Amino acid sequence: MARPLTGALVKGVDPGSIAQRAGIVAQDRILAVDGHLLSDVFDWLWHSDSNQIELTLVRDDIEQRIELDRSKNDDEDWGIEFDDMLFDGTRTCANACAFCFMDQLPEGLRESLYLKDDDYRLSFFEGNFITLTNINDDDVARIIEQHLSPLYVSMHAIDPQVRKRLIGSAGDRGLEVFQKLVAGGIEMHVSIVLVPGINDGAVLDETLEFLEWYRPSVKSVGIVAVAYTQYTEDIAGETPRSFDDQLLSAHVIEQVQSYQFRSRESTGQTWVYLADEFYIYAHAPMPTSEWYDDYPQYENGIGIVHTYVEDIRAHLDQLTDAIDELEEGSEILTIVTGELTTDTMLGTLSALHAGSKIRLLPIKNQFFGGNVKVTGLLTGIDIVSAINYDNQRLDVPTNYVIPWSIFNDDELTLDGYTPQMIADAVDAPVIFVADDAVGLLEAIKEVSP
Ligand code: SF4
Repeated sequence: MARPLTGALVKGVDPGSIAQRAGIVAQDRILAVDGHLLSDVFDWLWHSDSNQIELTLVRDDIEQRIELDRSKNDDEDWGIEFDDMLFDGTRTCANACAFCFMDQLPEGLRESLYLKDDDYRLSFFEGNFITLTNINDDDVARIIEQHLSPLYVSMHAIDPQVRKRLIGSAGDRGLEVFQKLVAGGIEMHVSIVLVPGINDGAVLDETLEFLEWYRPSVKSVGIVAVAYTQYTEDIAGETPRSFDDQLLSAHVIEQVQSYQFRSRESTGQTWVYLADEFYIYAHAPMPTSEWYDDYPQYENGIGIVHTYVEDIRAHLDQLTDAIDELEEGSEILTIVTGELTTDTMLGTLSALHAGSKIRLLPIKNQFFGGNVKVTGLLTGIDIVSAINYDNQRLDVPTNYVIPWSIFNDDELTLDGYTPQMIADAVDAPVIFVADDAVGLLEAIKEVSP
């Protein structure tokens, strides 16, 4: 019977490498190293960490064995490049989260946006948050043996009923795996998506106390406010709502502060961090840099606004000098931003004494609606229509500054616009820059006389 084609597809071999000398070629499919089947690049690294290995591979449907030897130079790389990091595909989730953003998307977006990945390999490698609910005991043993640590884990709540309500019936398995991983020496950064009336208040206290108990294995906790779109009918049976209420957010800040103070007192680290939106909605000052430690939850959207403001502050002289060079009295640059950061951006422009030379265009996210207000989730269609509407009403021409954060690595917005498509569709000049101080400097220099 033919063996199923699993294993690692070779994309290429480095010229002059051991692999090339041994005759490995692109399109070979490596099934095993020393008899160990390979499911991903971590298996490859783990099992090939030796000076002599035997590969089982398939070429032209014929299985063969090839020996590789680097005993003369044990630093030498084998020289094999693989087609993908996950040889057996991305694992998808086993959950039915009440707030799953993927279920709240309109139809017709790029297929990859609907992929519900929940793969511990991507958690280890890219920092994707996973729920641990689709991990079997073999996976647990493998994670511990290969020490795939730290992992990034969504916890949300530890109360079984609340977990069931938020994640679905697989929630218990996630907790079981969490405890096994901790016992096996795996460290974790934890995320909590906070839903008002469901896992805040006393439920949040219970969750944080549980996670505190598992320190130092739980290296950090990030709390983010639930997001919903205009397509969300309900969240766990409740009317969709989040923390865009001053008192509600202020209450969360106060509640979490007691854990933060306690942690700083005992370890010098804040340990539990709140997402930027809580401070924005509460009209509270952002914490200091020291409070964010080494920004362990930055990829979870925690500390981004603070980092931006600090970056502008660090480049204040350069920016104000560059703005001074701009002509007086005209709205030369217009910065596109999401609604959430309007006040922060206005404060920044005021600190830069930009006067009337630089203005802001906060754009409402009509595409997703709901409480989606961050710049990075703005779509091409909303940006184009907002710029064209704004531009028609201006007496003087302006240049629109669009942040790169609206594009993914393939330079596509969520609704598939490229920078060129946006530039072609608007009736004014556009400048694409990074949303940091250097990006702003670049934009200013581009329009300087
Ligand atoms: S684990 Fe993530 S992808 Fe899966 S249902 Fe929950 S939120 Fe959605």
